[in-house]
Amino acid sequence: MKRIVSIMILLGSSIFTSGQNIQDLIDQVSISELSSGLHIFSGETSTTVNNTTVSILNRVSNTGNDLAADYLVEELQNLNNLMITNNVYSSLGRNVIATQTGTVNPNDIYLICGHYDAVANYCADDNASGTVAILEIARILSEQCVDNTIVYAFWDEEELGLLGARNYANAAAARGDNIKAVLNLDMMGYDGDGDNEFDIDVRNIANSITMKDELVALLNTYNSSINLNVNIVDPGTPFSDHKPFWDQNYTAVLLGEAWSKNDQNSAYHTAADRVNLIDLSYYHDMVKMCMAYMATKAGISSNDTAITQAGNLLQVNQTAAVYQWVDCNNRGVITGENGRTLTINALGDYAVEVTVNGCTERSDCFTVTSLNSADVVASNISVYPNPTTDFLTIERKSDLLASFSVYDIRGKKLKTMNSRDRLTKIEVSALSSGFYFIEVRTSHSKEIKRFVKK
Ligand SMILES: [Zn+2]
Repeated sequence: MKRIVSIMILLGSSIFTSGQNIQDLIDQVSISELSSGLHIFSGETSTTVNNTTVSILNRVSNTGNDLAADYLVEELQNLNNLMITNNVYSSLGRNVIATQTGTVNPNDIYLICGHYDAVANYCADDNASGTVAILEIARILSEQCVDNTIVYAFWDEEELGLLGARNYANAAAARGDNIKAVLNLDMMGYDGDGDNEFDIDVRNIANSITMKDELVALLNTYNSSINLNVNIVDPGTPFSDHKPFWDQNYTAVLLGEAWSKNDQNSAYHTAADRVNLIDLSYYHDMVKMCMAYMATKAGISSNDTAITQAGNLLQVNQTAAVYQWVDCNNRGVITGENGRTLTINALGDYAVEVTVNGCTERSDCFTVTSLNSADVVASNISVYPNPTTDFLTIERKSDLLASFSVYDIRGKKLKTMNSRDRLTKIEVSALSSGFYFIEVRTSHSKEIKRFVKK
């Protein structure tokens, strides 16, 4: 995304809106990450915690779910820009809280949460599904600098009567925390009848109705990538972790599978609640829905990490920042390279970490294929015919797997496809006449060309 913005400026106008930025984040929600996270957090596959190979089979409240909490802490510690707290509120109760502080409005808090404890072994849907969804959103959003503060909260002892969430909500109210919204995730992976329906449970408390309306609006805005049908449940159920926030007059909703249509997990609260009952494609879309909401509320204010090359000099766009250049191939920082520019002596892949207002973002890796600027500005793709009526052909020099995406002039992604071919044809006959952009993205590069549809 960062590189798209810089190329647009070179073309003479900065046309990618924040809406496109959010689409980019939605697209990063990965079904394979979700699947592997679910398998690990419901004990189907082993993982490593505290340097030991373990299976997180047992997350039963009070009987040894500390391993699950330790896993969450380690996963969160691997991410950037988070402050992690073990919120131990009783001898056996332990919430795990990760805070990503907003750079513009640090006191405005958006909280995404779910319980990690369980009533039996496995319990993939209840509630590994919500837990892993939050981890996936944290994985993606923590790479961004955000205007408002995001709290990722993992509650303990929901199954004993919402104890973890209640303790936190009461303490937050006592502190006067300005929690603007609470998105609670509990059982979000089951769609037995395959109708893609889900529930938003809401009540007329604080701005919860408005929050529900915003979620529905986002579902409509991003319906090309989120295939879900919403049921509004009002008055919503009190039987999950949003309830203690309602009790403190905070804005909150529950998002989950369609209990309102009796389409809830058939293995609810048993050890048969396993990954094999999860509808991964439905679950994927549910997490994308949450991503759309959290990214919108976070306010994405990216540092401009686009890199340009002139001869043997790399320069990052962002001014007035703290810089650290990195060699992507050994993932090591380059000691002493803390300026906006980097003098390169060897071909390779370079990135830079840019810190503004205490928030660090790392650029994409920039591949240096020549130290001669004349070679560098040469394009690696050509696009023809231009203007076109029915097909656009993209010719390129590489056969790396690439994604080809067509955008309109407002930055809305209209279609996308993947190919390894050096000659790729995209049908554009359905587009109305006007200017468009074709983006070609590989693991090594991203290039954008403008074209005209007649
Ligand atoms: Zn639950």
